[in-house]
Amino acid sequence: MRIIDYLEAKYGVGNATTMLSCEARVFGIRGKLQKGWLSRIGSVEITPDMANKLKAELARSSAVSAVTGIQILNSAWIELKSKPAANSRDFLQSKAWKRLRLIALNAHGRKCQCCGAGPENGAVLNVDHIKPRSLFPLLALSLGNLQVLCSDCNEGKGNWDMTDCRKAY
Ligand SMILES: [Zn+2]
Repeated sequence: MRIIDYLEAKYGVGNATTMLSCEARVFGIRGKLQKGWLSRIGSVEITPDMANKLKAELARSSAVSAVTGIQILNSAWIELKSKPAANSRDFLQSKAWKRLRLIALNAHGRKCQCCGAGPENGAVLNVDHIKPRSLFPLLALSLGNLQVLCSDCNEGKGNWDMTDCRKAY
């Protein structure tokens, strides 16, 4: 379940125009909602950790829609739990990651976004997390955080390195 799915389940399709401040906090938004917030974070997958944190916050909230939020999270729990934890050893083997990885490869044209090499040049392509999943687990399944790199370009990049190589290749 992505953030937009949660909000649309709660407020109705097309009506995901706002959220509670506790929801914004859990989803990583600081301060007021800025224009375009939904297109920025809507596709982020809600992880089991996020859902648990959110349920605890909603339970403390007096907002009318808080109860609905808890119900939505509870009914989606089985699906949420099947999402791999960002730091788990199984992450790279999970269906959710493999599916997203393929979407990223297709979206970026199966070329290294740093040097332009592709399989036709013998390059082995990797899908890289720009912000590493160890430090930014909430972005582990976010398409906007992925770039395609060949092994050569990827090798020098450690978990501390957040170089965004995305170019017009
Ligand atoms: Zn490269």
